[in-house]
Amino acid sequence: MIGELKNLIRQYLPNANFELIDKAYNYALSAHYCQRRASGEPYINHCINTAKILTELKLDEATICAALLHDILEDTLVIREELKEEFGEEITTLVEGVTKINSYKFNDNITKQAENWRKMLFAVVKDTRVIIIKLADRLHNMRTIKYLPPDKQKKISMETLTLYTPFAHRLGIYKWKSELEDLIFEVLKPAKYHEIKSKWQARSESNIKNLEIVEQQIKEKIEPLNIPYRILARPKNLYGIYKKMQRQEKPFSAIQDLFGMRIITDTKEHCYTILSVVQSEFSILEGSFTDYIAVPKANMYQSLHITINSNQDVIVEIQIRTEEMHKRAEYGIAAHWRYKEAFNKNGTSTLKQTDINMEQHLEFIKHILESQKDITDSNEFLTAIKTECNFDQIYVTTPKGLAIKLPEGATALDFAYAVHSAIGDKCMGVKVDGKLVSLDYKLNTGQQCEAIVRNNVHPKEHWLSIAITAQARNKIRKYLREHKKK
Ligand code: MN
Repeated sequence: MIGELKNLIRQYLPNANFELIDKAYNYALSAHYCQRRASGEPYINHCINTAKILTELKLDEATICAALLHDILEDTLVIREELKEEFGEEITTLVEGVTKINSYKFNDNITKQAENWRKMLFAVVKDTRVIIIKLADRLHNMRTIKYLPPDKQKKISMETLTLYTPFAHRLGIYKWKSELEDLIFEVLKPAKYHEIKSKWQARSESNIKNLEIVEQQIKEKIEPLNIPYRILARPKNLYGIYKKMQRQEKPFSAIQDLFGMRIITDTKEHCYTILSVVQSEFSILEGSFTDYIAVPKANMYQSLHITINSNQDVIVEIQIRTEEMHKRAEYGIAAHWRYKEAFNKNGTSTLKQTDINMEQHLEFIKHILESQKDITDSNEFLTAIKTECNFDQIYVTTPKGLAIKLPEGATALDFAYAVHSAIGDKCMGVKVDGKLVSLDYKLNTGQQCEAIVRNNVHPKEHWLSIAITAQARNKIRKYLREHKKK
C-alpha cells in the first residue's frame, strides 16, 4: 500500500524525499501498532488512504507526511516534542493543527454551532493545508462509515454536512464535495437515496447507449481537426439531483439534465473550435449557452456550457474546457500550484514544473478565500469572517464545545458573563486550556474556557474596569446598584 502511495507521488514529484515519506510511514506504523479500524483493518491503512487522497491535489511532501502522521498525537502515546525531534517544525505544526480541529467537540445542536465553529477554525488555522488534510481524513472516514453503529453514522454525517462540505466548497474541491454529499445522503436519507439511485440507473441503462452515440458523433467531427481532446461522460451526483427535485418541486421523471459530458482540450481557442462543431452538429436547447471562459465565475471556474437535444432525443449538458480549467473545476484553487499541465501531440499530458512555489500557492489560496464573494450557500460565512472575525471578533469554546463569540480584547470575565449572567456574577476565575487565569486575562480565538464559580463571590466595583462587553458591564452595574440600595 505504501508502494502505491509512493507511485502516486512520483507522478508529480519525481524528486520527492521518499526517505522522509518512508520514515513517516514506519513511524506511524509502529505508533498505531495493534490499533484497528472499525472495519477490522490495521489502523495504518487509514493513514495511507488519507495521504493517497491528498495526492489528487498534488500536495507537497510535508503535507503527505503530516497525513501519514495525522492521528498520532491524538490516538497514540507520541507527544509533540518527540514528533518535532523526528520530523521538524513544519510537519509537526500540521499534525498539531489537525489534532486541534478534532479537539473541538459539539453538543447536539450542531447546526446552530456550525457558523461560529467555521469562523473560529478559519481564524485558528493559519495554514490551509491543515484544513485540506482534515477534509481528506473525513472523506476516508465517510467512505468507511458503514462499519460504525447507525447512531454514530448519523452523527458523523450530520457533522460532515454542516461543517466540512462547506470547506470543500469554499476551497473549490468539488470532486470531494460531491462524493461527501452522496455518502452523507445515503446515511441520512437512505430510502430517498436508493430510490433516486435505482431510478437513475434504470434511466441511464436506456440512455447510456444513446449517450455513446452522441459521443461517437462528436468524435467523428473533432477527429479530422487534429486537435488533442478527451471526452468524459458523467452522471450528476445523486444528492445534486435530489436537491434539484426539491428546489424545483419536481419528481425525478421531470429532471432533464441527468447526464453531462465534458470535452477537454488543450487551448482556449480549441474550446471554441469544438463549440462550433457541437453547434453545427446538434440542435441546441434555447438559452442554454453560457460562456464562462470569457466571463469566469468568481471562484475562477471556466468552461463553455451548452445543452443539446441529440437526434436520439437525449438531453445532454456539454462542458468544454482546457485541462487546466478542468483541474480547477474538479479540485479548485487547491490543485493550482507548482505544476502546469502541458499536452503532447498525441493528446497525453505531461507535467511541467512552473516557478510557483508552495508559499505563493498558499498565499494565493488565502487570497481567494478572503476575496471570493459570490458563492451562494456559505457566502454569509465568508463575509462574516471579513467583517467580524478577522478584525474585531474572537471565538472561544466551552468544555462542551459551545462556540462563543466575543469582541477582541474580551477578558475571562467577559467570557463568564457571555455564558450566563449568574455565572459571571459568581466567577472567581477561568480555566483557559486547562490553566486557571485571573479575571482580567485577555482571551484569544480557539481557547477552551471554563468558568470557575464560588457562591461567596460577588461583582465588585473594579470589575467594571475588567469587563469590556456591554452585556457584562450592564450586569455588573445592575448588581452593584441593587446591592447599594440594600
Ligand atoms: Mn483520521
